[in-house]
Amino acid sequence: ELEKRKYVKGRKLGEGTYANVYLGHSRSDPSALVAIKKIKVQAQYNDGLAPDAVRELKHLQELRGHPNIIQLYSVFSSKDQNLNLVLEYLPLGDLEMLIKDVDRVRYGAGDIKAWMGMLTRAVWFCHENYVLHRDIKPNNLLIAADGEVKLADFGLARGFSDPGWRMTATVITRWYRPPELLFGARHYSGAVDIWSVGMVFAELIIRTAYLPGNTEVEQIALICKQIGTPTEDNWPGVTQLTQYTVPSEITPVWGKEAYMGRFGAVGSEGVDLLVKTLALDPKKRITAREMLEHKWWRTEPKPTRKEDLPRKS
Ligand code: ADP
Repeated sequence: ELEKRKYVKGRKLGEGTYANVYLGHSRSDPSALVAIKKIKVQAQYNDGLAPDAVRELKHLQELRGHPNIIQLYSVFSSKDQNLNLVLEYLPLGDLEMLIKDVDRVRYGAGDIKAWMGMLTRAVWFCHENYVLHRDIKPNNLLIAADGEVKLADFGLARGFSDPGWRMTATVITRWYRPPELLFGARHYSGAVDIWSVGMVFAELIIRTAYLPGNTEVEQIALICKQIGTPTEDNWPGVTQLTQYTVPSEITPVWGKEAYMGRFGAVGSEGVDLLVKTLALDPKKRITAREMLEHKWWRTEPKPTRKEDLPRKS
């Protein structure tokens, strides 16, 4: 109740699946803008969210202070029992808007490198703090006034400090979902986020979703065709996963060279990093920490300074 009184709610900024988002400001400082995200009552109880929601918020509170993670200022419940999150206001839209606006927004390898650096540091920080985001996609990467990209929407985030925890397999928007989740794995790791990071990387380059499956079956078929068919040879144990099914025609895993034609705009080192994020076996997938040590970041062109990055017009 006290927290609620600190903020004044303004116009609606947008509507999502789980929440309505409003502009707001601090009562004591009207120039301090915030976004107030009111989680829909029903959504609070879907996917095991609400009772957990408060705990998930703890994760967001634990992740405080990183420049590439949306800042949570406060939490309060309104009279209708809705959960309200007071978040950093990010006025410049999201990466999806920039990727899609092909006619007006032009960007190059240095820009992609800057955005990918910000995303990778955000994911590294989550994993370092034992939090999985589980819904990384361009539309959850919001842009601050100074050009900084911030990972947002921790509605599905959860801790993985308890290694025996069985987790639900129906997380992550389908196009960004890794094969282990599509095959029903319940003990998964930070590698699920890395696959999504790889999908965002690919999409930044080609400016369209890389593997846009219309169904889960189609999603698996696209992965098999474009990346390679998961088999016991490239992923020991995969055939034991409960939902394992692949098209009968087996495609060998493509090497780096096969990606150069379509993704070569980020150079040979960029493609090397991309391919490492897309390892089928989650145990062989690169980690966020290893990504940060990759040679690509130090190869020309250097990452664009955030104030020089393209923005929406
Ligand atoms: P979804 O991820 O389903 O699009 P969200 O509930 O996260 O929806 O947000 C809905 C909309 O509200 C977003 O598309 C965006 O336009 C706006 N929005 C969300 N968070 C913020 C924020 N921190 N600052 C400014 N606008 C925001």
